[in-house]
Amino acid sequence: MKEGSAADAELPGSVTSAVSAAAAAPAGIPAGDVSAPALTVPEAKAPPEELHAPPAPLAPPAPPAPPAAVPTSHSEAPAPGDAGAKESRDCDCCFDNVPATDGVSCPGKAHFFCGPCLANFLEAFKTSEYAEQKKAKGRALCPMKDSDTPFGDGALAVFVPQDVFDEYLQIRIKVAEQSIQEEFEKENSAKIEELKEKLAKATGSGEQLELDKHRLKIIDDIFTLKCPRCKMAFLDYDNCSAISCSACKCGFCSFCLEDCGKDAHSHFYKNGSKCPNEGGPLFVPHNVWQGYQNARKERLLCEYLAGLPDEMRKKVADLAAPDAKDLGIEMPQDLSAAGLMPEAHGIQRLKVTIPRRMRGLILPVKKDLPSKVELKIPEPSATVRLCSPMLAPIVAWKVTATSFGKSSIAAHLPTDHQVKIEDEWVECRGAKGDIAKGLIKAKHIVGMISLGKDVTLKEANGCGSVLVRKTATQDEGKNALGYWDDGKKVKVVNHWIECSWEGAGPLKRGIVQANCVPENDIVLRGPEEDCQAVLKLFKAKLGFDVEVFSLGGAKPKAAGKAKAAKAKAKGKAKAKAG
Ligand SMILES: [Zn+2]
Ligand SMILES: [Zn+2]
Ligand SMILES: [Zn+2]
Ligand SMILES: [Zn+2]
Repeated sequence: MKEGSAADAELPGSVTSAVSAAAAAPAGIPAGDVSAPALTVPEAKAPPEELHAPPAPLAPPAPPAPPAAVPTSHSEAPAPGDAGAKESRDCDCCFDNVPATDGVSCPGKAHFFCGPCLANFLEAFKTSEYAEQKKAKGRALCPMKDSDTPFGDGALAVFVPQDVFDEYLQIRIKVAEQSIQEEFEKENSAKIEELKEKLAKATGSGEQLELDKHRLKIIDDIFTLKCPRCKMAFLDYDNCSAISCSACKCGFCSFCLEDCGKDAHSHFYKNGSKCPNEGGPLFVPHNVWQGYQNARKERLLCEYLAGLPDEMRKKVADLAAPDAKDLGIEMPQDLSAAGLMPEAHGIQRLKVTIPRRMRGLILPVKKDLPSKVELKIPEPSATVRLCSPMLAPIVAWKVTATSFGKSSIAAHLPTDHQVKIEDEWVECRGAKGDIAKGLIKAKHIVGMISLGKDVTLKEANGCGSVLVRKTATQDEGKNALGYWDDGKKVKVVNHWIECSWEGAGPLKRGIVQANCVPENDIVLRGPEEDCQAVLKLFKAKLGFDVEVFSLGGAKPKAAGKAKAAKAKAKGKAKAKAG
């Protein structure tokens, strides 16, 4: 998403407003009501024990803080006689009686919440449904739903821990990005209606009419996402990619739009939690999902254009270009049939996953590639976009962390933050009577690293033994726990990528879980046979089959179905022969 969208998100205002918001706490409840048992217990919540206990004594005779401590600028300042009432309040969530300055009133002023309850509430808001988050543009409303005005940031910032508040702000950015997208989609459907009307009125068979028909097909059938069963357009995507149609209850995949019966989750579970056709994971943030969806739309657009007569292609492409631009879809540059549908012409485009620490092994392959093959391996110094499998912001820990509490957090990184990779560490557990647990550099491990599995060690520089460290830092001395010899087997407990970044903070360097750092950024393109030969060389160098994903789509559909099916059959026959 564009930087500009953040500005629209009404980012946190001044935190200084906290004081006045907190001062608003003493809502207009007469002093007598504070001591009386609460008659209106919110919702169906069971009243806690305290309510049955005798009411807490009213304000202590000597107020601990002089009234000067409480700002008096508030317009609804209580009458002098109410002075005692503002000393303590009952939280409308946990019913604890707390000092009035330890919580805030809701924007509607009818409810009061203590600090810990506000924090819990913001935590829950983070995982609530998009529709809920959208109500106040990513800001939290009173849980009792008595007002459409969200809580002020200032008040929340005072009573809620920093990390909870930071994540709360992320929701706003997410909602803003998503609503911009929805705006585009709405404009898109307006365009479709307009075109349909125009075509309905038009007569004859002029070229313009023909072109408009193609444009309508492109924006209506390719750019607009629809339920595979009832064809109702859908906009709402809420983090889980196995969705169901609000109209016909069809369960479908939000990546490939395959009708999966009642529930689409198994579509993902059958394939390692990824869509088998588009490769998208079951849980992804909205912007990542959008990226997959745009790649799919680009591919379908190419297939559609390839099915048009040569003389029409350029004209239709030019006509659809502004629509595509609005949605962030890239137009193809090469409009030749082979350029539009490389797979149908025996050209493969593959995304290859190879662990970064092993990429040195495949560099020799790059030197004598078959002439028509392109192999793109990003430079080790290139930035990498994180992808959080948990949807939540990614926690980067301090490199010096030995335990994982709040004080060990280096930063909360947005789910798709760009980072530079500095090093890679594996935390391993030794055998009984050995170094119990320690960190070693990933380059000293032979083969794949998976959590909970045993790995074999081999010091990368041929020293014969691997230094085991306490923390993910270069320091030796006190940080050194000892050595593990080559050939030793240890169990993988954690896999960390040490990285640095700009933006998020407070620290700019730390370690993140390896599963947040994608390694599928190698691109291989060329004639099918040559690509397969290169993959074989990779296997020989690495010792295992690399994971490959076809950018041409696993299942060619729409335009040129028959042609694609034929190509597929041919491919299968070849695979068998090979
Ligand atoms: Zn409470
Ligand atoms: Zn309220
Ligand atoms: Zn439907
Ligand atoms: Zn799918």
